[in-house]
This record gives sequence, structure tokens and C-alpha cells, in this order.
Amino acid sequence: MRQKIVAGNWKMNNDMAETEMFLVQLKKQVIPEGVSLMIAPAFTNLNHTYQSVKDHPVTVVAQNMHQSEKGAFTGEVSAAMLKSVGIKTVILGHSERRSIFNEDNDLLAEKVNTALKNEMTVIFCVGEELSHRETDNHFKVISEQLEEGLFHLSETNWKNIIIAYEPVWAIGTGETASPEQAQEMHAFIRKTIADAYSNTIAKNVSILYGGSVKPDNASEIFSQDDVDGGLIGGASLNVESFMKIANAFE
Ligand code: 13P
Repeated sequence: MRQKIVAGNWKMNNDMAETEMFLVQLKKQVIPEGVSLMIAPAFTNLNHTYQSVKDHPVTVVAQNMHQSEKGAFTGEVSAAMLKSVGIKTVILGHSERRSIFNEDNDLLAEKVNTALKNEMTVIFCVGEELSHRETDNHFKVISEQLEEGLFHLSETNWKNIIIAYEPVWAIGTGETASPEQAQEMHAFIRKTIADAYSNTIAKNVSILYGGSVKPDNASEIFSQDDVDGGLIGGASLNVESFMKIANAFE
């Protein structure tokens, strides 16, 4: 069922002490009804964060995982390891993973399969670069990312998929997609899913917007018909701005 979600992707920020400071403050907040609040700390702080917010309506999310179940993959973390510390949701396909760590759609499809096999929920990120938009290729790029990363899934898999549309040119740049641009792409994503599967599946999938969401622009973006919330980077590192964004739904 489609949910309102505000998820903080901390990226490579917040060490243990900073994470603890954030959690102490977060636990004093009233979480708005009907909004799923999620935070994605670094691997090293997942266990502590999960234990800390266990009795609060906050979902702790991993930022990545490896596609194999286990083995000789120095430096990597498996789905089973995440689950063993209580983590059941993972972000896959973030543009930083795609561009800096060369993760392509085929690899991401494998990661999605492994996550779903381990009964995890996936926040699957898609997004075009500025050059794609300037050459009018943004819809093509997004539909390829969806097709190659997700469209091999069965209908029942979709209850464990959340999509995040994050135009690369809007990430960490202070430049957001306009509410109209966000709505246009979210509607396109929903239609692409409806064409590949069904209206029911498309209607029920949550599609988050990410890219320079801040307290002062969140409500305009979240008020768009096909925007179900946000994946927040910079503004999720501070409890006050994160909560303002969580309260930005009408
Ligand atoms: P910013 O909110 O810092 O632009 O980051 C967005 C993002 O990449 C979230 O995954």
C-alpha cells in the first residue's frame, strides 16, 4: 500500500558520537501520524541505531549491500549480515553508487534479487544526469533504469519496492527539480510501471523525490499527486530540519 515516507540518507556522514547525538534528539520528537520515518546511517552505526530506536516508529535502513549471500568479498556486507542486526530495508542504485562505484543496471538487478530473496524492502533509486535532460533523454534513461533494474520482478515482489527519483543534477547542488518537473517524472514512472505490470501495482508503489529537499521546499514538492515523500541527504543530518520535512505533508 502506498505510504508517505521521509527517509534520511546520511551517506558517509555521522560517526558514532554524532549518530548518538542525533538519536537522543530524534527520540524526543513527535513523529507525524501516517508518515513512515526512515534513517540510513553508515554500516558501522546500524546496529547501535537499530537498538536505540527499536521502540520508536523509525525504520533503520542500510545504504547499500553486496549481491552475493556470503564469501570472499573483502570489505562488503551481505543481506544476512544486515538482517542479523535488525535491518530489513536497503537503498540500492543511488546515483553515487552508480557513478562513483560503477554499479550498472545489471548489477543492481542482482542486488535487488538478493535483497528480495532475503525478504528485505528495497528503496530503488533512479535518476538522470543533467546532460540527459538537456538532450531530452531523461524519460528514456529513467525507463531503462526501471526496466533493467526492476522489471524482471514478479508482481508479488512489488510490495517490497519503494522507488526514489533523484535527478543527479539536483543532488547536493541546492538545485531542486521544480514541483512540476518532479510530478511529471513521478507520473511517468507510475505509468511505466502500470504499462509493465498493472494499474494496481503502479497505484500502490511509493515514489519518493530526492535532490536538495529542504524544510522550505518540501511541502510544495510533497503536495504533488504522484510524490509520496522524500529521500533526503544534507537536510536529514539535522533533527530539526529533518522533522520539518517530515511534517511537510498537507
Ligand atoms: P541532498 O538532499 O543532499 O541533495 O541529497 C539527496 C540524496 O542523494 C539522497 O539520497
